Amino acid sequence: MATILDGKALAKTMQSQLAEKVAKFTEQGHRPPGLAVLMVGDNPASATYVRNKERACAKIGIATLGQHFPADIFQEVLMDTISDLNNNDRVDGILVQLPLPGSLDSVTLLNHIDPDKDADGLHPINLGRLLRGEIGLRSCTPSGVMRLLGEYDIDLTGKRVVVVGRSILVGKPLALMCLEANATVTIAHSRTTNLSELTRSADVLVAAIGRPEMITADMVKPGAVVIDVGINRVEDEKGVRLVGDVATQDVAAVADAITPVPGGIGPMTVTMLLENTVLSYQRRLGLI
Ligand code: NDP
Repeated sequence: MATILDGKALAKTMQSQLAEKVAKFTEQGHRPPGLAVLMVGDNPASATYVRNKERACAKIGIATLGQHFPADIFQEVLMDTISDLNNNDRVDGILVQLPLPGSLDSVTLLNHIDPDKDADGLHPINLGRLLRGEIGLRSCTPSGVMRLLGEYDIDLTGKRVVVVGRSILVGKPLALMCLEANATVTIAHSRTTNLSELTRSADVLVAAIGRPEMITADMVKPGAVVIDVGINRVEDEKGVRLVGDVATQDVAAVADAITPVPGGIGPMTVTMLLENTVLSYQRRLGLI
């Protein structure tokens, strides 16, 4: 049976280390780190994500500045809000919860965030820095994957990594991070032909697809490491539950190591958001 790569446990350890770090700085008389979370509309999933992020911030001593706007808010109001937050010295990170209502131009809004306060690491400047191997804020989910692999001493040097999914949120930045870690990387997507053949060639297989349990045991090389980024809500005879993009139980019988859903990459993503905020805080206050 495969080793379970326990993101929940690692996230807990990392969050208590971050709390200690923040406490040390505030005891020295520094202000606490600050994260501004902007939410637009009433998407229930987004509301849950925002609440979880704010709770996690509170636990480690990050001050949150939540702002909730109605779905019919004007783009200009949000642009002005972001400008104010960019100029606010108590704010180290700015996060716009996605998806935004279709009436808003999310690209323009996200690009308006000061790259050095871009807690989600999705600003073109930060993605460019990643491409160039420069220091910057890195996107949370891919960074969480890399941190979890590191925790279990899974060295990617010379390994064949196949990332299924090419989104700007997960697939593309993760592929770049694996490349930086000296893997040989292939990115697959919905137009990839012979997907199973490709996934079976992977020493490390990442699923970031958004299709419940699409990766089955016959698509996985025996002994591979399988990272399941997917979070899908399904409703069946067992009730409503969250499943990944990987058929975990069957794949665990073939793989050497696997991330569970929930309890794998999800908690790591939130933790990397906290880490980015604290990192930005330390840089801005010269504490690094
Ligand atoms: P997107 O929908 O933006 O991207 C999905 C990718 O999967 C696309 O590149 C798409 O290809 C590809 N794809 C879709 N169907 C197939 C298929 N049949 N075969 C091969 N490739 C396919 O999703 P995200 O990247 O934002 O998210 C992916 C999953 O990860 C979702 O379940 C999401 O909920 C989850 N997620 C989890 C996070 C966490 O914290 N654990 C954080 C972020 C996301 P194409 O480009 O050709 O359309």
